[in-house]
Amino acid sequence: MRVLVVEDDARIRRFVVQGLEEEGATTQTAETGREFAALASDGSFDAVILDLGLPDADGVDVLEALRRDGCRTPVLVLTARDSIEDRVRGLDAGADDYLVKPFAFVELSARLRALHRRNREHDDRDHLSVADLVLDVRTRRVTRGEKRIELSPREFSLLEYLMRHAGEVVTRAMIAENVWDQSVEHFSNVIDVYMGYLRKKVDRPFDGPRLICTVRGVGYTIPDNDAA
Ligand code: CA
Repeated sequence: MRVLVVEDDARIRRFVVQGLEEEGATTQTAETGREFAALASDGSFDAVILDLGLPDADGVDVLEALRRDGCRTPVLVLTARDSIEDRVRGLDAGADDYLVKPFAFVELSARLRALHRRNREHDDRDHLSVADLVLDVRTRRVTRGEKRIELSPREFSLLEYLMRHAGEVVTRAMIAENVWDQSVEHFSNVIDVYMGYLRKKVDRPFDGPRLICTVRGVGYTIPDNDAA
């Protein structure tokens, strides 16, 4: 999970970043509303943790502007403001959850996971495309350019998972859990074998760029449309 931590208090920022990284998340930080707006608008984060009292702006105002511009990244507001009015205003501005300081890291982490999960479940796109590769979830039809690609049900699920996460690196553990519903132990080889099948059908017969890439020691990735 990639998390943007927006917090001007260095002590809290370090605490949150350290906790998240210990759990395997990657983090980036912002200390001002201006930095927050610049970083969040590219949409590459899975979640934002947002302090409201920032030196140059009110976090709520920045969030509101980002939502107006179409930013859909889940945002968890972390603030000392605990009045009902403040919470309502934060949620109305587009926050997805609200945690009042002082807080326990375990709760922050649990809420973040829930937010991330809900967001993934809300990925209701039924038409996925990367470069000239198109996957239609409803008709289960996959094409590259003009050519139809026949996939087994498992290969289809695997490709769908990769395409839903285009531009991200998916680990073998993520694939095992989400495509096979299994933990990754003893499963890594199966994933690699299936990835080989998929490459043979999706990449090898075509002249276009290779879409399924190995990230050595980590997992696999398919580029998003900006990179493809
Ligand atoms: Ca602050």
